[in-house]
Amino acid sequence: MFPKISNKTIKIKFFSKKFFIQNNIDKLDLSLFKEFDQKHFLIPKQTHSKNIFFSNSPGQIDNCDGVFTSNPRVVCFIKVADCMPIFFAHKSISFYGVVHAGWKGLTKGILKGTSIFFTEHKLKLNEIDIYIGPSIQKCCFEVSKDIIDKFPSWSIRPKKSGKFMVNLQKIAYEELKSIGFDKKRIKINSDCSFCKKNNYYSYRRDGEKTGRMIGVITSEA
Ligand SMILES: [Zn+2]
Repeated sequence: MFPKISNKTIKIKFFSKKFFIQNNIDKLDLSLFKEFDQKHFLIPKQTHSKNIFFSNSPGQIDNCDGVFTSNPRVVCFIKVADCMPIFFAHKSISFYGVVHAGWKGLTKGILKGTSIFFTEHKLKLNEIDIYIGPSIQKCCFEVSKDIIDKFPSWSIRPKKSGKFMVNLQKIAYEELKSIGFDKKRIKINSDCSFCKKNNYYSYRRDGEKTGRMIGVITSEA
């Protein structure tokens, strides 16, 4: 399920429904993540913003939807239930992170912001491996007319009902390519969180009280 990426020290894990059964994310017990017990978590308090944050220290970051580090003792953490968890890792050095990107984050420009962030850290975009994890796909991500102009026309498929299906993974992929990331380094998981009820939580399917999947990325360097 997890992509091979160039930097062998990088570890990406996605905790799906089978593992993570606890609904209340605010009371998340980090001891669930036993394999990381020598490490520390960097956790964004997500708000569907375009804000990303770099830190070599653990902690919780307010109003933030992406966290990055170069400290192998830090685990970058994200929670999702339909939105895309997008993992980033430099091909050779210890520099990695994860972004929470739903349609709001995407249309606000979180990916462009991430690219600017890498450039500011003197890293080349074509040396970054990217993995888009399980999330709601074009089969199930439906929007109504009032927000349809936020999406590129090629990503939209109209339905007889008057609603529209939108391909968020393709929007992310095309944007990542166009801002300078290498398409050969972008991997996309094809699982739809809405369709695969046994595997994943889905906000769209189950409503606000649904659980969340957890994505983490760290280094074993
Ligand atoms: Zn689906």
